[in-house]
Amino acid sequence: MLALDQLKTIVWLFDIKQQRIVWANKQALKWWESDSLAELTSRDFGADASEAILQKQREYEEGFKQGQSFFELWQFWPKGIEKKAFCQFCGVLQDNGSFLMLVEANPANLYQDFLSDLSSAMFASYKPTGIFLSANPIFVSEFADKKQDLLGLVHQPNDAIELMQQLKLCERVEIDLKLNAISGPTWYHITATHAITPQNEATYLLHLHNINDRKERELQLLENAEQDMLTGLLNRRGLSDRLVDCVIAQKPFCIFYIDLDGFKMINDSLGHAVGDQLLCEASNRLADIDPDNSYVCRFGGDEFIFVSFQNSTPNSAGVSLTSDCEKYKEIANQLVDVVSAPYSDKSENMLIISASVGFASYPEDSGDYVQLIRFADAAMYQSKAQGKKQWTQYQSGMETDILKRSLLAQELSSAIEKQQLHLHYQAIMNTSNGTIDSFEALLRYQNDKLGFVPPPEVIGVAQDIGILGDIENWIVQRAIRDLPKLREYTNSQACIAVNISGKHVSHPDLPNFCIQQLEANKLQPKDLIIEITESVLIDKISTGNNPLNRIAETGIRLSIDDFGTGYSSLAYLHLIKATTVKIDRAITESSLSSPRTLKAIHNLVISLDMVTLIEGIETQEQADVANQVGIHLHQGYKYARPQPLSYFKNRQK
Ligand code: C2E
Ligand code: MG
Ligand code: MG
Repeated sequence: MLALDQLKTIVWLFDIKQQRIVWANKQALKWWESDSLAELTSRDFGADASEAILQKQREYEEGFKQGQSFFELWQFWPKGIEKKAFCQFCGVLQDNGSFLMLVEANPANLYQDFLSDLSSAMFASYKPTGIFLSANPIFVSEFADKKQDLLGLVHQPNDAIELMQQLKLCERVEIDLKLNAISGPTWYHITATHAITPQNEATYLLHLHNINDRKERELQLLENAEQDMLTGLLNRRGLSDRLVDCVIAQKPFCIFYIDLDGFKMINDSLGHAVGDQLLCEASNRLADIDPDNSYVCRFGGDEFIFVSFQNSTPNSAGVSLTSDCEKYKEIANQLVDVVSAPYSDKSENMLIISASVGFASYPEDSGDYVQLIRFADAAMYQSKAQGKKQWTQYQSGMETDILKRSLLAQELSSAIEKQQLHLHYQAIMNTSNGTIDSFEALLRYQNDKLGFVPPPEVIGVAQDIGILGDIENWIVQRAIRDLPKLREYTNSQACIAVNISGKHVSHPDLPNFCIQQLEANKLQPKDLIIEITESVLIDKISTGNNPLNRIAETGIRLSIDDFGTGYSSLAYLHLIKATTVKIDRAITESSLSSPRTLKAIHNLVISLDMVTLIEGIETQEQADVANQVGIHLHQGYKYARPQPLSYFKNRQK
């Protein structure tokens, strides 16, 4: 014992049965505010120990028999002075087979910095009916009269009932619960065990730690981790957690994949603040649809997932698990309508977007929720492809389109490098003199794995993965390089037309890049025509600083492609310094039955000092109507199909 006396730590030996300290080192005497060992060993700790403390000690004793030791923050009251210490409790076996408790205490004030999150152990014992029996002083001061029964102690009465039910089934329950402390509802970690009093009564011993700060932080983090910061809807993780629960509970549900049509245009042209506002408004509308039977998640930028679930669990009654398909179709209709209703920005300007929706249901389409999301996405993609603002129910096989798209994305990223991109040239005829006016360069992509991929698909995917600018630069470079050869092989003074996408056309480097390529091939700016589609126009022109005019100022010519199909941009036409308007094939097709439309467009184009070109001429009749109306620039299979450069070279021979 002398050696222990030299220790800086506080050590004493406690006889649990006698409730007395039987030995203490010098530091322990100070800790206990005692002048001598004789005085300390004479103290009867049992006199004012609560039953809860005694039970805890008996629990320790049981542990010592199994060779266990315990480490805990305890609170002591030597001579009425409150002290806290981290205590290590070990059992010392005596000759008579009973244990003494060796206590090694480290005063908690040495660890002040680490203590903010820790609290002293609290003990309380309750009857199995939930009636309070006893507690240590810190428990009493923390809960005062709230402690009288478990129902009043636990913040949510249901949690108290569940705790008592669990204790009927298990020897030991560990749980985090919010309790009614006198300072307000507070989180505690509770270990509840069965104990027997000396009077042989069964009790529950609760051992509590205040974990309020940590728990609040955890809950906050959890909430943030499951929530989308902008809209407050569930994020992907929050959605996954809920779908896992539905699958476990075998609740039928349906996943609606929603993509906002036209959002990108508004976001890019009117700015991200307006875009954010629009997303929040769309989110609110979705969240209001059927709050009790749905989850709404922001799945990505302008993509949302709406999950409609059925609250019953038919399987438990032995009834087959099926979804209500008609109800899902109704919801799909509602989603399209609600999201597509007009929005207004802060200045009350009306903004129009719409929704393309795809849906797939559990368990019919798949038992795997990750796969279901993919299926719903594939169905949504069909809605987009079929003209947007509509819904599509998943049919098996739709997902292969998406797989193809992702393979295309993968392959396309190295297409320039691997020299898999080619250009075909389609002659545009001037029917007033029979010469070739120009050639339109059209992209061709052929790949071993994918075969021939139609250009609009290539362009769409290239845009999605951010390489469209590179591809179009390559096209400009190649088409300009080929023009002198095309002129030579066709013995013409034709110009070259290239299609440039919306985003790229406003890139500040584009005009210079084109001029450099033209100069390098000894060509004039007027030898190049840039075709832009009508839908791009509204976006670019309405932003004020019109990038199209910067191109026109260099002398490069602009042509408005696919006119008559997209937005009604007649009102904007005069704002663009374009030279040509290309009438879309769809109008050409109906021109025989309604030449007046053609005439009206042509008159408008002339009044703006531009030239009309008609696309998709396949028959002599179509050519005749166009000529009669006064349109002499013709493009179409009647005259020529798009062909590679080698075709023109070989024909010349
Ligand atoms: P576009 O610019 O309107 O090109 C004309 C499309 O109509 C071409 O299809 C051409 O092959 C086709 N065509 C020409 N004459 C006729 C005809 O008489 N009948 C029919 N049925 N079709 C005819 P293609 O090459 O499949 O290109 C489709 C679209 O893909 C193009 O429409 C254009 O929007 C886009 N595209 C093609 N190449 C490029 C490119 O290099 N860059 C960009 N941004 N888009 C491109
Ligand atoms: Mg074109
Ligand atoms: Mg066109």
